[in-house]
Amino acid sequence: MKIIGLTGGIGSGKSTIARVFRSMGAPIYTADDRAKALYTESQDLKTAVTARFGADVYPNDHFAPAVMASKVFQDEKALADLNALVHPLVKEDFSSWLKDQNAPYVIREAAILFESGSHLDCHEVITVEANEDERIRRVMKRDGVSEEQVRSRMDKQWSDPERAAMATHVIVNNPRSLVLKRCYDLHEHFVELREAAKV
Ligand code: ATP
Repeated sequence: MKIIGLTGGIGSGKSTIARVFRSMGAPIYTADDRAKALYTESQDLKTAVTARFGADVYPNDHFAPAVMASKVFQDEKALADLNALVHPLVKEDFSSWLKDQNAPYVIREAAILFESGSHLDCHEVITVEANEDERIRRVMKRDGVSEEQVRSRMDKQWSDPERAAMATHVIVNNPRSLVLKRCYDLHEHFVELREAAKV
């Protein structure tokens, strides 16, 4: 089974594009959602996070994403430490999820696919791009946040050219882009990849 990574900056439309591939039958693994779930599901992660960041990350024994985010937002070392705790578990979780899938290819969606090194486990990688103004407008509308808040999140991520340099495929998701046709063509390509591997 082929593993196709899917990434892109905030508001580029990764999750929207993932839904298009899902509609064509591709199983989707959403690394960000699974990472969030693992804070609660994995006792090992809970113990390690509490030891490194303090018990207030789990007030009343429930994971508090906002408290966790506040601890790593302006602290690169803390963020690196957190990623070092979370990523091995996400990797393991993905492997066990993969065993249950039966399709020519699966999509592994992650905002920090390259930054976390997860692209190394993918056969090919798609990065989704959109104009900066468009991305800001989308996230302001979706999350009810200010332009400054979107820009401050954006500034912490890789740029589109940095992601494109590492990706196998780029999907441009601007208002008038022919996104569905592009996704369909890529779908055909991924199915052929798997067929070619059988010969
Ligand atoms: P994040 O990294 O913040 O999770 P994302 O890259 O996964 O973002 P989406 O959540 O897919 O992005 O899209 C952001 C918002 O923009 C959503 O509200 C989505 O409905 C909207 N959107 C995505 N693509 C388009 C498009 N081509 N035209 C109009 N709106 C779009």
